[in-house]
Amino acid sequence: MEIIFMGTGTSQGVPMIAHDAPDLDLDNPKNWRTRPSIHVVMDGCHIQVDAGQEFRIQCLRENIRQVDLFILTHRHADHIMGMDDLRRFCTLRESPALPVYSTPDGLECIQSIFPYAANREKPVSRYYPAFQLNEMPPILDLEAGQIYSTLLPHGPVETLGLVFVERSTGKKAVYFTDCKEVSPEQREMARGAEVVILDALQQRKHPTHMSIDEAIETAQDIGAGQSFFTHMAFLVDHETVDRELPEGISLAYDGLRLQL
Ligand SMILES: [Zn+2]
Ligand SMILES: [Zn+2]
Repeated sequence: MEIIFMGTGTSQGVPMIAHDAPDLDLDNPKNWRTRPSIHVVMDGCHIQVDAGQEFRIQCLRENIRQVDLFILTHRHADHIMGMDDLRRFCTLRESPALPVYSTPDGLECIQSIFPYAANREKPVSRYYPAFQLNEMPPILDLEAGQIYSTLLPHGPVETLGLVFVERSTGKKAVYFTDCKEVSPEQREMARGAEVVILDALQQRKHPTHMSIDEAIETAQDIGAGQSFFTHMAFLVDHETVDRELPEGISLAYDGLRLQL
């Protein structure tokens, strides 16, 4: 299994527009964070999770050439607004309608923002996107493996938490972005994973995201071989925060690739 961190920033990206963050070392490329998403390759199947505003730039940067399946974790702009750029992957497919999975709320939002693409068997016109919308089941069984899903609390919204298990290797990876907490049952789901990726917005507490300390507690309780934090705000300087984290926990950064 391969995991590519396409973006690791918060909804505004880091740095923010017209904002000085004196403690953020902008000479360190790891502090330049685009909107959060990951690209997972399981036994040759390319799964894109979320597409924010920089999705096109991220695809060019990481040389992404294939998307077989798209999962929208929830309807927030930093996760949905790049979906139009999936059009290129629709064009490249043998059958152009791209399978898209989300919550009922997420699907409704896709339908209203991208009506020209939603539930089309083929694109309206050449080079247009076409999405085949499906509600995310608790277990999505693919030739390449399984994707387990759960609903994480994120203020007024629920976010799909995802657990990937590759068929050929049995390797397991967890992506719990945009959540205020992870319940005991959800921690149980995540146990035994080689890699766990968690939302960790900033040092200060926040009503809808985990803070760094909350994410550390969650990561240590799950006890994965390696844990990575994502969705970091402008208050998090990579070098300063990363070196203080307990062993086995690191801050992710744009372009980080994990081979499991
Ligand atoms: Zn977000
Ligand atoms: Zn969100």
